[in-house]
Amino acid sequence: MRSLQSEIEQRGARIFELVDKHPESLFSKAGFYQQMMTLSMRNERFKVQMFRFVDVLPSLRKSGEIVRHLEEYFAGMRDGFAPVIQTGVRVARIVPWISAFILRRNVSGMARQFIAGKNCEDVMKTLRKRQAQKIGFTVDLLGEAVLSEKETDEYAARCLDLLDCLARETQGWTDPFGKNSALFPVVNLSVKISALYSQMNPADPTDAIAHLAPKLRPILRRARELGAFINFDMESYAHKNITLELFKTTFGKGEFKDWPHAGIVIQAYLRDAEADLRDLIEWGRARGTRFTVRLVKGAYWDYETIKSRQNGWDCPVYFQKPESDVNFEVLSRVLLENESIVTAAFGSHNVRSIAHAQAVAGELGIDPSRFEFQLLYGMAGPIKRALVEMGYRVREYCPVGELLPGMSYLVRRLLENTSNEGFLRAKFSENVATEELLRDPNELLKRDGATPRSESLAPTAIEHRHQENDPSLQASPGDICKNSPLVNFVYKESQEKMRNALREVRNRFGEKYPLVIGGEKVWTDKLTPSVNPAAPKEIIGYVPEAGIPEAERAVKAARAAFGKWSCTPFEERARLLDRAAAIMDRRRYELSAVEVFEVGKPWAEADGDIREAIDFCRFYAERMRLIGRPRLTQHVPGEESYQHYWPRGVALVIAPWNFPIAILCGMVSAALVTGNTVIMKPSEQSIICGAMLMQTFEEAGVPPGVLNFLSGHGSVIGAHLVDHKDVDLIAFTGSREVGLRIWESAGKTLPGQRELKRVVCEMGGKNPVIIDSDADLDEAIVDSIYSAFGYQGQKCSALSRLILLEENYDRVMERLLSAAASLRVGNPEVAGITVGPVIDEAAYRRILDYIEIGKSEAALVYQAKEVPPEGYFIPPTIFTEVKPNMRIAREEIFGPVLSIMKVSDLDEAFAVANGTDYALTAGFFSRSPANIDRAKAEIEAGNVYINRSCTGAVVGRHPFGGFKMSGGGTKAGGADYLLQFLLPRVVTENVTRHGFAPEETPEYRDEFLWPKPEPRKVGI
Ligand SMILES: Cc1cc2nc3c(=O)[nH]c(=O)nc-3n(C[C@H](O)[C@H](O)[C@H](O)COP(=O)(O)OP(=O)(O)OC[C@H]3O[C@@H](n4cnc5c(N)ncnc54)[C@H](O)[C@@H]3O)c2cc1C
Repeated sequence: MRSLQSEIEQRGARIFELVDKHPESLFSKAGFYQQMMTLSMRNERFKVQMFRFVDVLPSLRKSGEIVRHLEEYFAGMRDGFAPVIQTGVRVARIVPWISAFILRRNVSGMARQFIAGKNCEDVMKTLRKRQAQKIGFTVDLLGEAVLSEKETDEYAARCLDLLDCLARETQGWTDPFGKNSALFPVVNLSVKISALYSQMNPADPTDAIAHLAPKLRPILRRARELGAFINFDMESYAHKNITLELFKTTFGKGEFKDWPHAGIVIQAYLRDAEADLRDLIEWGRARGTRFTVRLVKGAYWDYETIKSRQNGWDCPVYFQKPESDVNFEVLSRVLLENESIVTAAFGSHNVRSIAHAQAVAGELGIDPSRFEFQLLYGMAGPIKRALVEMGYRVREYCPVGELLPGMSYLVRRLLENTSNEGFLRAKFSENVATEELLRDPNELLKRDGATPRSESLAPTAIEHRHQENDPSLQASPGDICKNSPLVNFVYKESQEKMRNALREVRNRFGEKYPLVIGGEKVWTDKLTPSVNPAAPKEIIGYVPEAGIPEAERAVKAARAAFGKWSCTPFEERARLLDRAAAIMDRRRYELSAVEVFEVGKPWAEADGDIREAIDFCRFYAERMRLIGRPRLTQHVPGEESYQHYWPRGVALVIAPWNFPIAILCGMVSAALVTGNTVIMKPSEQSIICGAMLMQTFEEAGVPPGVLNFLSGHGSVIGAHLVDHKDVDLIAFTGSREVGLRIWESAGKTLPGQRELKRVVCEMGGKNPVIIDSDADLDEAIVDSIYSAFGYQGQKCSALSRLILLEENYDRVMERLLSAAASLRVGNPEVAGITVGPVIDEAAYRRILDYIEIGKSEAALVYQAKEVPPEGYFIPPTIFTEVKPNMRIAREEIFGPVLSIMKVSDLDEAFAVANGTDYALTAGFFSRSPANIDRAKAEIEAGNVYINRSCTGAVVGRHPFGGFKMSGGGTKAGGADYLLQFLLPRVVTENVTRHGFAPEETPEYRDEFLWPKPEPRKVGI
């Protein structure tokens, strides 16, 4: 008996032989497409620009716009490799409309290469040809990202129409095999599950399934009536578990339990694919009805790796291509070995992967009529022909739709075709030898010294490799420590931990937490309750109210502790922060749960806050290590000057409730690590979070008096402490009104005051986002909605003024309004809620007042109808016809209220964006490189975000803070932040004696630090 490898080689060689009988270049359409692809494969920069141009083109309506973009993307290319383009750009300048027409036609031609038709009638022409070639089909409806329930309804309706049309048009078609045809209905529809529910949240599979199932059922019923087949396509990892769960719940019981014509995709590039497949098979056996699995490698490799790196998540995909290939083969065998319950569909263009499936099927004695190969429309035509000739079933995946929504699909295909790792490029463009193409991927893994599949690469190793490969990631000031990963609520385990934490915190409702002054627990006559804004009758806990006597005591305690703490080695202080970070990491879910209850944060927002607090501790600890040692200022013979820092003294930290642990912790940890002692006053609305942070630092071992916890009225103790002669520094984040008062009163020097008071002041914003006429609306709308309504608009970074150009105003508004109408508003204790309650009754009333003002000034175009009756819920609200001078366009509302401002062009857009008192965050969505450059240079904001949401700053990555009336220009989580908590000092010594001076001057000297650091032990 021949070995499996030789069987694969023999079958593979046969496929190649048949392929070579009808030679075809990789890109079967010659001309423009061929040239573009060849250039793309030669030059990475060209490829990026080219794909970006293809991406934006369909949204450009005027010839002038097309030519401008062409120029912006390509005119600067000096590599001399693209004369075609250079000529194109020159011609375009002279005759724009002809060039625009030709470009559009060429790119449409490119898209038509992969999109089988605009609609059902159109696609039928292709399907008839394929039927004649004995190739079956599955049709996929291309569409824009689905942003609202209105759009999901449209998608579902299109699916029904398509099914009807396909069934009608294919009447009388028979299975080309004539054998086992019951397993393979002629009409086959591939469905994108995410297109059926716009609010799919990985943290809440129950809600997703509750919404998806009713949308899906009519499609399944119609398919069953028509004798068609429905396949669930698989999208990004975030949707994977929900898609699998939906499949099992829909077909596991009830009306579809006995229906065999359903299939689902398994992606072999996922590390957990085998577990998922085995689980499905077990489920299928219990169900007792056949089903189908389409095995693919996966289409979102780049997306998954980028996303997981950005969020610090374990990478769900294999890192090396042969690992995916090996896994594909392992899963092919699993599928074929379970042929009695599952029908296999192998979705691959890779001849090795295909030949392997054939060989294993042969080895197991499975008739070729019982499984099929699926390939994409417009790709690998010769392979399809070869497979048919060899007597295998072939089905083509045919996307149907318009050009604009088809662009993301087109770009995915272009990437796949030009990928260095891809089989098609290797075979058809680079003519790699047959033996190499048919090599066992296990051997490649061994040859490249990779970890065997069973041990799969640890995420850290993956990160490391990524970093090595990417020069842009080489150490920058924010890279000094790794950000803590966000919790990934895609995992059931994370969801379960969060639910447990919520239960446990709920069980502790009503507990009392003391003030801490000079290391002592302090109680007063009056206890302040903290209530749940989603259910104000619920009391989360109590903290004593501090008055002037406690404030005085805290100042004394902090002053007394300062002497020793200021002389504590910075390394020791940095270690305190490291320990605090580790404790918060350990208590992560619990702290998040406290935030959900106390300040109404949705799960992921609460987790983001704890992550930020952890990051602040680690980042500031590392920054202190960098600046802590006295450092030589210049090399000058005969003289040595060293700069170093002393702490300022007693720091008063006054924090807001909207990032109740992160901002408080950021200011406290910066003050502590720099050697100041601290009086920490959390917001009156988030005192339990304040108590939690105090507990954290106590457990971390903060010495008595170094950190003091006071809770009370800002107008009483806050004002008293701000004016106190023994307070040297005030770190404040909060409203403009209070911030300006602090700024002013801190400027008055009091009798007996030691230092000029330093104020670190972060205030609000009235943040604009501009959507340019060529912006990708799928992204711009999702991100704008999130920026405006995420955490109920209560972030100082939140979007409050959306600036739209006349040109695309109607298009944006139509989708924006229905997207807003689809948001989930409710108690954030429930996973997957986007909009919860505002913080308290005062905020509730103030925001409602602003809504009234808005109604009198502008036009109310949207207000959510249903919000929970109890709790401080404000319905998401949108105003149009808002003018720059109106109050709702100028004043900070701090709630889920969005103003839309229409402008005639970008000049006006930038003027409106910059025309407020604030300069905190701003966003700009555009695909025009020139306009993006303009936004980068012109928008007045401390944090300018291009093509992404304007909230969610990450420590070290997005140092955060604004100017004008948004703050004193400081950057929390940035390289310079600690300097504000320090007094710089320089010691200069003349080291010349009678014209003689030492030749070498050390970079660092530690003798100005007290106590002197232990001399380093050097091994003998
Ligand atoms: C009919 C059909 C339907 C499909 N449906 C889906 C679907 O629903 N969902 C989906 O996600 N995909 C789907 N795909 C798969 C996807 O679109 C690609 O076509 C497929 O992954 C390409 O694999 P290949 O075997 O043809 O080519 P190969 O060239 O052998 O493999 C390329 C693939 O390897 C993987 N890869 C690339 N680089 C690396 C790396 N460094 N480390 C690890 N792995 C890497 C990627 O998955 C990449 O797509 C489908 C494919 C077909 C043919």
